[in-house]
Amino acid sequence: MTKLELSALQYVSQGLTYAEIGQRTGYSQVSVQKAVIRVLRKLNARNRAHAVFLACQAGILNPKHRHGDHAGFIAHQRRGEDPWECRLGCPEGERAYRRERRAARRKADEAWRGAVANLTEAS
Ligand SMILES: [Zn+2]
Repeated sequence: MTKLELSALQYVSQGLTYAEIGQRTGYSQVSVQKAVIRVLRKLNARNRAHAVFLACQAGILNPKHRHGDHAGFIAHQRRGEDPWECRLGCPEGERAYRRERRAARRKADEAWRGAVANLTEAS
């Protein structure tokens, strides 16, 4: 299976439309549609739901391996893969996660400094 076929299948399993898959993979909607049809043929599947089922059974799709968020990013590392090379949104998801963590840390720091300042003023 090609990279696009695998990505398309993964996104189909997440309920995305061809247009949405095209946006995320950088391919046209028609290319995505053709890729999915090739996947159906390769898996001997009757439709997309059947393809997802067969792919899970065959271990092609790991339902536990999510992409696009921090958990997916860490899952790549556990498998010895480079998560920054993931084309299914893991780098973007990880960057957003780190941004949020940084903002939360900064907020906590500021709150702590504010509390210290209040104490100093009071004494
Ligand atoms: Zn990923």
